[in-house]
Amino acid sequence: MNNPRVRFAPSPSGAAHIGNGRTALFNWLYARANSGKFIVRIEDTDQARSSETSERLVLDTLSRLGLRWDEGPDIGGPYGPYRQSERQHLYARAVRELIETNDAYPCYCSPRELEMERKASIAARKPPRYSGKCRKLTVAERSAMEKGGIRPAIRFKIKGGSVEFDDAVRGGVSFDTADFGDFIIMRSDATASYLLASAVDDMEMRITDVIRGEDHLSNTPMQILIMRALGHEPPRYAHLPMILGPDGSKLSKRHGSADIHELLEAGYLPDAINTAMAMLGWSGVDGNEVETLEAIAAKFDLGGVSRSPSRYDKKRLDNLNSRALRSMDTGELLSLVSPALERSGFPIDRFGEEHMRAMIETAREGANTPADVVSHMGQFAGAVKPDDATLTILKAPETSQVADALKKALSGLSTIDTEKYKSVIESVSLQTGLKGKRLYQPVRAVITGAASGPKLADIFTILGPEELLKRIDKLEALERA
Ligand code: GLU
Repeated sequence: MNNPRVRFAPSPSGAAHIGNGRTALFNWLYARANSGKFIVRIEDTDQARSSETSERLVLDTLSRLGLRWDEGPDIGGPYGPYRQSERQHLYARAVRELIETNDAYPCYCSPRELEMERKASIAARKPPRYSGKCRKLTVAERSAMEKGGIRPAIRFKIKGGSVEFDDAVRGGVSFDTADFGDFIIMRSDATASYLLASAVDDMEMRITDVIRGEDHLSNTPMQILIMRALGHEPPRYAHLPMILGPDGSKLSKRHGSADIHELLEAGYLPDAINTAMAMLGWSGVDGNEVETLEAIAAKFDLGGVSRSPSRYDKKRLDNLNSRALRSMDTGELLSLVSPALERSGFPIDRFGEEHMRAMIETAREGANTPADVVSHMGQFAGAVKPDDATLTILKAPETSQVADALKKALSGLSTIDTEKYKSVIESVSLQTGLKGKRLYQPVRAVITGAASGPKLADIFTILGPEELLKRIDKLEALERA
């Protein structure tokens, strides 16, 4: 298919989570892979739950991920406006048309009546659906209701038969309309329901392919009926599989953050997030390395999307992110973390360019996020405040022996290279009789104030003997406190 038009249609009522992000990504990839257009439409018909802040958050998140749109609420386009709250006139026109063609009718039932009807159906073990009571009202009965001040909702009339469509992911899908009641397309306050608004917009905006989450599968037959009644052929559909947690249960907070904005703020890289999302239901990326959007788009194919649920594993994202950090150009990484580094109070001015590069090279080892890099860098600056575990190490009796031995070994030196570092460690080992972890842990603690972090050899060679001695004095004071 060439030049498709696809849309991402978020409801601006909360955070942008991985599920929405995956839908946006797959739409973007499909458009990019087929020279199409990617459209963003804000589905804010539920005014009570929608907010401008949430809309801004969604748009900002998409931009930061690199998922730029061709038409949308901020930039407009040929089929605007792109916010449903500004399109009510189009929905009202569609409703008028549907009433004229006898595909819709006003319903005056009160919420209480509907609730009683629902309970009666359940008690009779029948699926709860609208009885169609208001279908049969005469013109006179309708005007009596109107005179009584009752504002009707408008329902779509189900006329029987089945709705079939070919889903790009799920294959042939069929629904028997006997399972649906006449559904509401316009509420009594004259606002369009989601089912109507989204169907009208997909038609009016010339959407060719609707790619969305499987949770919308059951809405599709009703939207197809609306479009056909309005004289349009529906677009193609592709329903993406559900996303579960790594243990196969419903995805929730305890599986680690799935809020994309939060992840970006914590320093996760857009390409790492995109690669992790591309893996949710599609086998085109294996997650062994971070891939760019362009690289993923070059091989993207909806036919390769699986119908079985996919699992979101935060650890996979952590892995991808730490790989991305490791393979990033040193200068690029330095500019990425510089703002956060400065905010953390790191004395950038104290170190020359060469030292900064050397430090960042070692600080990125074992870091999952730029925030980890910043915290590792803090160990070079001596800015680390020991945590409880490190305080215990600092207070252990061997630690003061290690500190004394270190001071002795360092005092005659003016510089340190890898060879000298090795002999310093050997000398401390000989003086204290300690080896392995029992030796390295207190050495690290008296120098950095932390229990883990960048390679000790790097810390020694970069800081040099004078700075190391100062550190030991400072941390020894804590040891005695
Ligand atoms: N606004 C809907 C949602 O956020 C999406 C509707 C659709 O894609 O048709 O779930």
